[in-house]
Amino acid sequence: MDTDLARAWITAIAASVVNEKQRLTDLDTAIGDGDHGNNLERGFTAAVTALAGDDAACPGDILVRTGRTLISRVGGAAGPLYGVAFRTAGERLTEPEAGLGELAEALTAGADAVRTLGGARPGDKTMLDAFMPAVDALDAGAAEGSGLAAAVDTAAAAAEEGARSTVPMQARKGRASYLGERSIGHEDPGAASTAVIFRALARVVS
Ligand code: ADP
Ligand code: MG
Ligand code: MG
Repeated sequence: MDTDLARAWITAIAASVVNEKQRLTDLDTAIGDGDHGNNLERGFTAAVTALAGDDAACPGDILVRTGRTLISRVGGAAGPLYGVAFRTAGERLTEPEAGLGELAEALTAGADAVRTLGGARPGDKTMLDAFMPAVDALDAGAAEGSGLAAAVDTAAAAAEEGARSTVPMQARKGRASYLGERSIGHEDPGAASTAVIFRALARVVS
């Protein structure tokens, strides 16, 4: 990943989030407060604007700027959580070009930062249920010597599968947890948007 690819990724996320805004909002209406699509549209659109004319020296600069923008522009839970994920990952990508191994390590650190900040664990019906399988797939791809495109595509599929796996879970973190057992039977909006984020990466890499 170089700066052009990092920029293309954030731009692709913004476009996908605009396209998927209604679906993400509908998921959040079922078990939250119905703002997830709007929150992410506002955040990633602001990130694209913040990147315009940016003279980034490394992909990390792009991801750090994206993370800071999400933290400052998105009020909901997902803004700060995605914000620290991108910022933490970006802080590790300081060379002009990152290979699969570095990307896997950086995004794993990003997922760990979400875990630390939000206190959720896999199975709690949050974005982590998509994020962890995705970064695990990247790590496995790096260990097996896969190409970047193949590994990222596998990671996107793992995130999508992870998002679907949240349907039967009962939420133990975030607003959905207030519903108790009534949160069962719905896909978690944050897990769904994590799948969108990894699918956007797969699209720009291929
Ligand atoms: P809010 O709930 O403040 O309205 P959003 O609707 O933007 O924020 O985001 C909700 C999503 O954030 C949830 O679907 C869940 O995936 C994620 N989330 C909420 N709390 C946590 C947490 N503590 N750890 C990880 N993810 C969380
Ligand atoms: Mg919400
Ligand atoms: Mg909200």
